[in-house]
Amino acid sequence: MPVVKVPKGEAEPVKRKLKKLGLYDGKRKPKRKDEFVLLPVIDDPRVHKLGYEVLPGELPLRPERQIYKNLESVLEERLTVEELKHLRRYDVVGDIAVVQIPPELEHRTEDIVWGLRKVHPFIKVVAKKGFHEGAFRIRDYSIIWGEKRLTTVHKENGVEIKVDLSRAFFNPRMKGERYRLAQLVKDGERVLIPFAGVLPYALVIARYRKVKITAVELNEDAYRLGLENIELNQKRLKGEIEFIHGDAFEVLPELPTFDRVISPTPRGVDALSLTLSKAQKWLHYYDFVHEKKIGEFRERILEECRRQEKDCRIRIKKVSDFKPHVFKVCADVELKEEE
Ligand code: SAH
Repeated sequence: MPVVKVPKGEAEPVKRKLKKLGLYDGKRKPKRKDEFVLLPVIDDPRVHKLGYEVLPGELPLRPERQIYKNLESVLEERLTVEELKHLRRYDVVGDIAVVQIPPELEHRTEDIVWGLRKVHPFIKVVAKKGFHEGAFRIRDYSIIWGEKRLTTVHKENGVEIKVDLSRAFFNPRMKGERYRLAQLVKDGERVLIPFAGVLPYALVIARYRKVKITAVELNEDAYRLGLENIELNQKRLKGEIEFIHGDAFEVLPELPTFDRVISPTPRGVDALSLTLSKAQKWLHYYDFVHEKKIGEFRERILEECRRQEKDCRIRIKKVSDFKPHVFKVCADVELKEEE
């Protein structure tokens, strides 16, 4: 079976592209070789038309459990069909599995832990999650199995992110969104990120682009973790990150404007006017919007652009479902240069 040979730094984006084209072979493991990575691909003529170096090569198969097993199929052994319907999505953050267990399945907690450990043999903690609370958006968790900790190092988009789920917000499901933004950013840009948390957006962008990022965060625990994360990733970052501890509503007015502003706005906070006022070319503004109110959301942004005398073009993208009919959305606002 063929393999694609790419320089180490390009492995992640090429892998994504191959996956998207349906050419990646998930049954085999990629392998490091000196400054290169060998990526497993299926035997398909299209592989040879992408401009990558293709070699014949043997790569080891993944253990079977990593290929097809998902929690639901594993739990079929122990749960009834009716119970399986109540199973929710779960996340793995570093070596912590984070689950939601609805009341209908509480008596099945032990089985769910068993299933999770079967699917993810490397997890050390299983935590049950409550909801995001307060301005810092921290969730309430209880540990239902394993080591008594909620700190771990999560790997994503080629960076390592130290998190403490009991003290600072982190959402692994935004991995694709962070990658999308990193691809939009161009070398040389100056980027502002208020509401920066433990710096996942900043790290991923700085990993891929030679940019100057200014990030702002109010929660002191998140701020400290963010500083540690800059240290932890120093060697892999092309860009620079300046991290400011403070309230975005007080800090931003003192800052200059930036080429691009990324606002992972906390739910219930209106930072539109504030963040738009700092953007020269692009604003990526996140908000939680009912599907029937996306038009209103667009209008609100247009109105704010008019008020600030900025000529803009808006594209709104659904990023994830937050609860039935309510989406986390990102408005990509392009500000046209004045003539
Ligand atoms: N960008 C991060 C965090 C998003 S959650 C991520 O995606 O992981 C929103 C973050 O905004 C939280 O970390 C919260 O502590 C922070 N925050 C809330 N109000 C703030 C304010 N007024 N100024 C700066 N940060 C604030």
